Amino acid sequence: MVMNKKLCPVCNNVATPLDVVDFNKCCEEARGQFLPISGIPIYYYHCSSCSFTFAPEFEMWTEKDFLEKIYNDEYTKIDPDYLEVRPQSQLQILTQLFGEQKNLIQHLDYGGGNGKLSLLLRQEGWNSAAYDPYTSGGVSISDLGTFNLITAFEVFEHVPDIHGLMKNLTQLMSDDSLVLFSTLISDGNLKPNNRINWWYASPRNGHISLFSQKSLILLGKKYSVNLGTLNDDFHCYCRQLPHWARHSMK
Ligand SMILES: [Zn+2]
Repeated sequence: MVMNKKLCPVCNNVATPLDVVDFNKCCEEARGQFLPISGIPIYYYHCSSCSFTFAPEFEMWTEKDFLEKIYNDEYTKIDPDYLEVRPQSQLQILTQLFGEQKNLIQHLDYGGGNGKLSLLLRQEGWNSAAYDPYTSGGVSISDLGTFNLITAFEVFEHVPDIHGLMKNLTQLMSDDSLVLFSTLISDGNLKPNNRINWWYASPRNGHISLFSQKSLILLGKKYSVNLGTLNDDFHCYCRQLPHWARHSMK
């Protein structure tokens, strides 16, 4: 049974079903690869006020459910860039943005999966650690301390509990920390009275929280952090821009 409305977790206004897609809809469809239909319907709800779009189905999933059904042995097939290509390109981005300031940076890669990016950075002389809720079993956020650069690449769209994510990130921040994160903005790609035909809205990839620019701004305000945007994919949250980041961020 489908509820005809839910409350938007970002702004508490009314969200209504936008469309239903098959659970096996995956991002590789954009490259012509289609998985067999699973027959499991996944509803995405769209907030009429801030345009945050989310799949409530996953709110009830346990960590075990995610590991068994999404982040399983098949995951690299539907996200082949995960193991090598993406960490390498993230290394290049960080080197371009902050490479000259690396001696001033204590970096944490949040949600970094296998820790590859952090390893590559350490090999280049960075002070970097990795934390992933799925792979850093037993490590508590409060034991990690604070970091002045936190990256969360391709994390926000995977999280069913966006407030849990923001609490973790803000706990890891000091007053002059920068959270640099990537998630594709939904503006222009998801809209009312349209079916979902955006490749990024793919349950099989675990893409279950899809942000508009407005919803990222509002979410940040709830945690007293300001949003900065580099492009449709890369954004940052900070209380105040750290001095070492001023030359490369606006
Ligand atoms: Zn909203």
